[in-house]
Amino acid sequence: MRELVCTEPGVVHWRDVPEPRLAGDGDALVRPIAVARCDIDLPLTSGVFPIRQPFALGHECVAEVVALGDGVRRLEIGQRVVVAFQVSCGTCRSCAAGHTGNCDAYPVLSDFGMQPLSGTEYGGMLADLVRVPHADAMLAPVSPTLDPVALASVSDNVLDGYRAVAPHLAEHPGAEILIVTHGLKSVPLYAALTAIALGAGRVDLASNDDEVLEVARRLGANPIRSDFGKPERRYPIVVDAGLTAEGLRYAIRSTEPEGILQCVSFYAGGDMPVPLGRFYTLGIRFFAGRAHAVALLPRVMPLIEDGRLRPEQVTTRVVGWEDAPQAFVEPAIKLIVRRD
Ligand SMILES: [Zn+2]
Ligand SMILES: [Zn+2]
Repeated sequence: MRELVCTEPGVVHWRDVPEPRLAGDGDALVRPIAVARCDIDLPLTSGVFPIRQPFALGHECVAEVVALGDGVRRLEIGQRVVVAFQVSCGTCRSCAAGHTGNCDAYPVLSDFGMQPLSGTEYGGMLADLVRVPHADAMLAPVSPTLDPVALASVSDNVLDGYRAVAPHLAEHPGAEILIVTHGLKSVPLYAALTAIALGAGRVDLASNDDEVLEVARRLGANPIRSDFGKPERRYPIVVDAGLTAEGLRYAIRSTEPEGILQCVSFYAGGDMPVPLGRFYTLGIRFFAGRAHAVALLPRVMPLIEDGRLRPEQVTTRVVGWEDAPQAFVEPAIKLIVRRD
């Protein structure tokens, strides 16, 4: 079978590999039919994290179940599923607590398609077949009436956007939200989409990226062109989504006293300075950490099924399977690869 691999910075191509096989009772084999590019994939393929060996790409997809181990109870062959991007067992203490992104049974950052981060190759979703362990936990069935292209990013980035705002809006219904976007592309837009769907009083999105601002406006958020100097005002809920110290500083200065600052940024490579004295004095509550994919899926899917959340509104480019190698290294806010 073929899988998409990155061999060195900016070089992505198909390679032939043996088909995966069921290795345990709880495994499934799935055939991806729509794969989304995560916000971290371009940094990964451009070598921001050292590429020591070729690695398989893709960790957001909708797939069809092709084979099941004898121990799988909740799935059927032929079913369409969203595949969680983090490998998690579903039964350990962390999984039971909803912290499925830090499953006790696997090393930290055990994800599909992100070998440069974890050092372990779990396989990528731009492949003809993917072996998924703990299938009952990691695969979320979806209705065949829903468009797989619309759902492809639900494995990861859609969930990430949801968790950035949903718990805070539940605590403060109708609150006004600022999303500060300084390098991430789709996660902050999914956060805006979720905030609008959940009835935030106002959703502002500040960015120095005109393309992101244009999509934000289309979604119904208020775009704010900013180079991350002095903020115009403060908000009770602020989301930090990016890569830069200036963006983070702007997000911090935009958070009102006793407000919530939710960070969904992955600040790689060293320490990022944060003014703990300001947090203390103003009572700013700072949240960081990764999304927990398996735990979030049952909360997000109902919003999509009843039409309140439409992730396809963030999609900016859809290409066919054969075009994946070229498209995967080209800029786009949200790229989806569809099997022809
Ligand atoms: Zn991701
Ligand atoms: Zn676990």
